[in-house]
Amino acid sequence: MMKCSIFDHRIDLKHTFTIANRSSDWRPNLSVRLEYEGIRGYGLAAPNPRYGETPESCRAALEAMCGQLEGDPRAYEPMIRKMLASHPGEYAAKAALDMAIMDLAGKLLGAPLYRMWGLDPAAMPPTSFTIGIDTPEKVAQRAAEARGFRVLKIKLGSGDDQAIIRAIRTVTDVPVRVDANEGWTDRETALREIEQLAKQGIELVEQPMPAAQVEDMIWLKARSPLPLIADEAFTAVGDLITIGEAYHGVNLKLMKCGGTLIARDAIAMARSLGLKIMLGCMVESALGIAAAAHLGPLADFPDLDGNLLISNDPYSAHPVSDGRIRLLDAPGLGVAPLN
Ligand SMILES: [Mg+2]
Repeated sequence: MMKCSIFDHRIDLKHTFTIANRSSDWRPNLSVRLEYEGIRGYGLAAPNPRYGETPESCRAALEAMCGQLEGDPRAYEPMIRKMLASHPGEYAAKAALDMAIMDLAGKLLGAPLYRMWGLDPAAMPPTSFTIGIDTPEKVAQRAAEARGFRVLKIKLGSGDDQAIIRAIRTVTDVPVRVDANEGWTDRETALREIEQLAKQGIELVEQPMPAAQVEDMIWLKARSPLPLIADEAFTAVGDLITIGEAYHGVNLKLMKCGGTLIARDAIAMARSLGLKIMLGCMVESALGIAAAAHLGPLADFPDLDGNLLISNDPYSAHPVSDGRIRLLDAPGLGVAPLN
């Protein structure tokens, strides 16, 4: 029998975080704790308002799905697939339960997740560190503070984009990934911006245009000098077929996939379509980041800095050194509640 507890967290950001469509000082996260044979497993939900998820709907979904969990978490795959099919939508809640079941399975089997999946933690590429939209001076200051990271990710789409990039280039020459968060609505403008970016050491551009503008994205992919990565365009594994035509890669996030198991399905399918893999996150506790980081060795572009942007994380983290997440050799997710 599985015992389930749910906790609410108010996650405070170190700096007000602005992207092309909104600004915030804090985010709601929920965590779930499952207990089985005296062992505890933890998982994190960062509900996403874009998909109609609220902390309340997330909690209700967790309660409903927890009530239906049965069996031995060592057989995690059928348990997770049954959980995923037991409730519509609410992918953040599903991600939290997937993580908690995997954490339990790892602890019961005495192995870190990366070991259960046959991955090599030494193959972890560097993660990017994200800087939100601000004045060019402030962005340059944050870029200077992010020394130690080998890759930066900059949010654009504010109208002052080229000034922001020029300001960053006065303080650092590390590769920069750009996320426009659907900020360019005209394809000619998008192409002009991307051609400028290509001259300034930019590595890739994430979601340059609104996700719904598929024909424009196919046009842009044929002309873009930089790889284009889908983010908002990915809502479910089935979207990957279209994404394969309109983008060079996809940003996969556990909170959108519904956890690690579906994320692994999505990675396999994206690879078969020739897509590059970015592994992203929300503004979220290190608990959620840990689960994604165990998949990091499968990614081309880890973008797993959500916990580094917050000031009151309720969970411990895998350390970051030389810009890479160093997965601890501990069973399950390898992190724990701090109190
Ligand atoms: Mg993005």
